[in-house]
Amino acid sequence: NLPMLYIITPTYRRPEQIAELTRLAQTLMHVKNIHWLVIEDATQKTWQVTQLLERTGIKFEHLIAPMPEDLKKKKGLKPRGVSNREKGINWVRNHTTDGVLYFADDDNTYDIQIFHEMRFTKKVSMWPVGLCTGYGVSSPIVKNGVFQGFYDGWVAGRKFPVDMAGFAVNIKFLLQRPAAKMPYKPGFEEDGFLQSLAPFEPKEIELRADNCTKIYVWHTQTKKNSPAGALDAKYNSTNLLH
Ligand code: UDP
Ligand code: MN
Repeated sequence: NLPMLYIITPTYRRPEQIAELTRLAQTLMHVKNIHWLVIEDATQKTWQVTQLLERTGIKFEHLIAPMPEDLKKKKGLKPRGVSNREKGINWVRNHTTDGVLYFADDDNTYDIQIFHEMRFTKKVSMWPVGLCTGYGVSSPIVKNGVFQGFYDGWVAGRKFPVDMAGFAVNIKFLLQRPAAKMPYKPGFEEDGFLQSLAPFEPKEIELRADNCTKIYVWHTQTKKNSPAGALDAKYNSTNLLH
């Protein structure tokens, strides 16, 4: 009996939403023993998302968790997907006592091997994430099987300079840490969450993906190329300027 994977996916309404979720859903359809928590940054569930989830045959929850209004209105970088992930963490706290939790953004690219890698996480496991920052990859550095530090294009004083797609957490371990949460702090969501799992030190990380030598997940980002986006660009560059 395989430990259950609780996969938390933040998502939000935009022209690309169903395309992203179709790709992710059809990846997850190849993975056994998962419970998929799809959480929309919205005040109402999007019916197209509900329909898609029902067609997959995957065990799922379709939840909503809007970004707080004050943060939504703020200019500049916003904490994307934090309200959603917090909702997912709280759902897990209230509905299960074991398994493994993973944050899977809707737009990344997942080799199904990554789900085998994380399945037997005891505390926190980590692996490389491709296409991450200007360095091209974000990963723990491993020498002779031993953790040495982190390789990441934006360390910014973080204790855990890693990407959201680069770690999984054991749920028993999480439940022993009632204060664990993700901060509404752009760029510091991963570090804040991992630090809130204290006591937990980098040397305890369970190294996966062949001692972090293999890439099974990529931080891909979809180019805005929707009809709506194209029209915006057209009107902004021609009609309004000329
Ligand atoms: N997201 C969200 N609300 C937003 C923007 C993003 O729920 O207003 C979700 C998005 O669907 C994704 C995650 O939060 O699953 C991270 O967002 P994004 O992929 O835009 O961030 P990036 O990859 O650029 O860091
Ligand atoms: Mn993304």
